[in-house]
Amino acid sequence: LLKTTPDETKNQQTVAGKKVKQPVVHYEKIAKAYGDLQVLKGIDLDIAPGEKVALIGPSGSGKTTMARLLMTLEEPTSGAIQVDGESLWQQRVKGKMVKANEKHLHKIRNKIGMVFQHFNLFPHMTILGNVTAAPIHVLGMTKDDAEAQAIAMLEKVGLGDKLHGYPAQLSGGQKQRVAIARALVMRPKIMLFDEPTSALDPELVGEVLEVIKEIAQEGEMAMLLITHEMDFAKDVADRVVFFDEGHIIEEGPPREIFHNPQSPRLQNFLSRFR
Ligand code: ADP
Repeated sequence: LLKTTPDETKNQQTVAGKKVKQPVVHYEKIAKAYGDLQVLKGIDLDIAPGEKVALIGPSGSGKTTMARLLMTLEEPTSGAIQVDGESLWQQRVKGKMVKANEKHLHKIRNKIGMVFQHFNLFPHMTILGNVTAAPIHVLGMTKDDAEAQAIAMLEKVGLGDKLHGYPAQLSGGQKQRVAIARALVMRPKIMLFDEPTSALDPELVGEVLEVIKEIAQEGEMAMLLITHEMDFAKDVADRVVFFDEGHIIEEGPPREIFHNPQSPRLQNFLSRFR
C-alpha cells in the first residue's frame, strides 16, 4: 500500500530529516519467481531524476525481468515498485499482487520510454508515421505538432533524411535509431534500454551507442541501461549495478566497478570481457 499519496510527496521526500529528490524509479524488496525458479531475491534499487544506471551481469541473472516489471509486463512475487512516486501495484489480495487500474497504469507507462533488442517498428508506416503514431493517438497531439516534434527527434538520431522511407529500407542500426526517436518523442522521465545493440551486426553497434551517449549527455532524462557493452556502460553510466543470481552483488560509479571490483563474482564476470 502507498504510504504517502503522490500529491503529498511531489518531488520531495524526507529521509533522515533531510529533503531529497524523489526517485524516478523505486524498486523495494522485489522478489520474482517463475514457478520454482527464483529470479529476483529481494532487490532494492532507486534511480534519481536524470541518473544513468547500467545493469550488468551474466545472462539469466534477472536484468530483463527488472525491465519487464517496470513496464508492468510481469508482476513481482513480492515487493513494490513506484514510478515518479506512484505505485504500480496497489495492494495484495489473498497473497496476490493487484495492479493499479488501467487508466492509472497508462499514465505511469507514458513516463517510461522503452527500447528493446528488436525494434518492433510498424512495417506499413513511414519512418515519420512510426514516430508520430503515439504522440497523436496516445497524447492527443495534433498531426502538425507531432510531426514537428518527430522530425526534431529523427534529426537528433541522424535520420532527418529518411522521414518518408519505410522500415524495410533501413539498416538494423537505423531501425534502432528510429525506435529511439519514437521513445524520445513521448518525452519520458526515464528511458529503458534492454540490450539495444545485441541483435545488430557488429559494424552497426557503434552508431546506436553513439546516439544513446549523446542523449545521455543532454542530461535531463533518467536511463536504465541493460547492456553487455562494458566500455559503453563505463562512458555513459553514473552508476553501475552488478546482478548475479537474483541479488545486487555490487554497485558504484563505473570507475570503481570496472577498475576496482571487490567481489570475486564481479571480478570473474569482468574478466570475460578482457
Ligand atoms: P537476463 O536479462 O539477466 O538475461 P532474465 O531476466 O531474462 O535475465 O531471465 C532470468 C531468468 O528467468 C532466466 O533463467 C530465464 O530463463 C527466466 N525467465 C525469464 N522469463 C521467464 C518466463 N516468462 N517464464 C519462465 N522463466 C523465465
